[in-house]
Amino acid sequence: MTIFEKIVAGELPCNKVLENDDFLAFHDINPKAPIHILVIPKTLVKDFHECSPEMMKGMTEFIQKVAEFLGLEKGGYRLITNIGENGGQEVPHLHFHLLGGAKLAWTHLSDADPKGSF
Ligand code: AMP
Repeated sequence: MTIFEKIVAGELPCNKVLENDDFLAFHDINPKAPIHILVIPKTLVKDFHECSPEMMKGMTEFIQKVAEFLGLEKGGYRLITNIGENGGQEVPHLHFHLLGGAKLAWTHLSDADPKGSF
């Protein structure tokens, strides 16, 4: 079971923001911005690459609702999903990081030599 499945099952606590039948939004335990929310599907999907277009439709609507609930839509926000090892994904359960509450810097994205071939 992933950490996030345990949160969905109520076996681990979370600081919930919003939920519906299919998705849950809660505060990241290690925030990287004044507002840092994780949005997950309640059923296990490993990552964005495994996610169906049908699920993404519901996810998109839910993320927009969460952003509006937090008043982020006017000033803007950042949405990130990490995929697999090179993407830096630590929890193998699809999640979108919704970051906001300040003008965010665009950070160094890779440990690889920035002058390299990517
Ligand atoms: P990623 O590296 O994209 O897989 O992101 C995983 C995120 O989950 C990190 O930002 C962690 O801080 C966050 N996280 C891990 N465990 C918990 C938890 N129990 N409650 C809230 N956030 C968590």
